[in-house]
Amino acid sequence: MSDNNFGFDTTQIHAGTEPDPATGARQVPIYQTTAYVFKDAEHAARLFNLEEVGYIYSRLTNPTVAALQNRIAALEGGAGAVCCSSGHAAQIMALFPLMAPGKNVVASTRLYGGTLTQFTQTFKRFGWSAKLVDFDDFDAVRDAIDENTQALFCESLSNPAGAIMDLDALGEIAKNAGIPFIVDNTAATPYLCNPIKHGATLVVHSTTKYLTGNGTVTGGAIVDSGNFDWMASDKFPSLSKPEPAYHGLCFAEALGPMAFTFHSIAIGLRDLGMTMNPQGAHYTLMGIETLSLRMQKHVQNAREIANWLEGDDRIEAVTYSGLPSSPYYDRMTRICPRGAGALFTVALKGGYDACVETVGKLKLFSHVANLGDARSLVIHPASTTHRQLAPEEQIKAGAGPNILRLSIGIEDAKDLIADLDQALS
Ligand SMILES: *Cc1c(COP(=O)(O)O)cnc(C)c1O
Repeated sequence: MSDNNFGFDTTQIHAGTEPDPATGARQVPIYQTTAYVFKDAEHAARLFNLEEVGYIYSRLTNPTVAALQNRIAALEGGAGAVCCSSGHAAQIMALFPLMAPGKNVVASTRLYGGTLTQFTQTFKRFGWSAKLVDFDDFDAVRDAIDENTQALFCESLSNPAGAIMDLDALGEIAKNAGIPFIVDNTAATPYLCNPIKHGATLVVHSTTKYLTGNGTVTGGAIVDSGNFDWMASDKFPSLSKPEPAYHGLCFAEALGPMAFTFHSIAIGLRDLGMTMNPQGAHYTLMGIETLSLRMQKHVQNAREIANWLEGDDRIEAVTYSGLPSSPYYDRMTRICPRGAGALFTVALKGGYDACVETVGKLKLFSHVANLGDARSLVIHPASTTHRQLAPEEQIKAGAGPNILRLSIGIEDAKDLIADLDQALS
């Protein structure tokens, strides 16, 4: 099913799937198989030459995973998508075709803590580097781009504070520099934000979060817009020149708008092996069917709870971009027209001790290192995810000692407010 005229609710249920050709099964079967029988030697050769799309081995492709890939590509309005084992895997997979030793990524300072560590520490092992800049300072972003910069990277709705990035302006900067613009759309989801419409080249996801929506499996996805001209410069030889890792195939020439997607499968998954398994894809396919319904409720609850918190005298500040007092409120109507998501931080007047005590007393909110679950979640970054940082670094990351991160679930808002009220007192 690839009719682009369907609405979001229809697409999230039908895109990428037909009744199973072998059995007529209406739901996508879990194809729990490693390999696929070739019809004959010629068929096998066509598959290996990428002349025919089909299944070879489940490190590369699997029908259950393919259904999810097609559905996510349709929801994001991309040419193609590749799923992988986690959100962090998706980030490596997105950069892998673009990067080489000595190359860098210009990235936002407002990123998920784990991404900051991956970019600033682990990248070094590959000879890559990341230049972190304030993505609200467009001059600083432009100035940071040099001849070794291969991509611009940010989160549409940032973790943990829920700041909204001006994707239109950043996409324009990337376009003028001739580099891809990569947007992590995890916290917004394609229901709230369509980065490709605002100039993104690639969209990455941690499907672990809202796309699955029930805290059952980790997964990731890379969606390619199909819009980037890899042949326009010599910057991306793995896509624009004969690639020795795939018997000299020139991906951009042979596969056009599907070049990045096929490269990610034929070389990325083949050699890095960060594959999503079919059971995992099944859980995410189940979750994604109700994405729009859940996001509506997440946003409605987050608005109500952020409003209540802002008016409470035990609270110093709330970062929710959906509050009229937020500096990102005006940007929301353009970038995230259906709402500012359900992830934000609150600063407690009582400081570190009040945060630790509040987390301990909450009953409905679970204290976990996750977000985007149907359940409401809370974490105190300074005593957990950001514990190893110096106090100044914690504050810069929006994770000071008096900060709690909330991921608002889809329970009744009045019950969540009552839980927060008793825990704060
Ligand atoms: C969780 C998260 C990731 C990493 O995803 P995993 O599935 O945990 O590897 C990346 N980006 C954002 C915004 C996240 O919230």
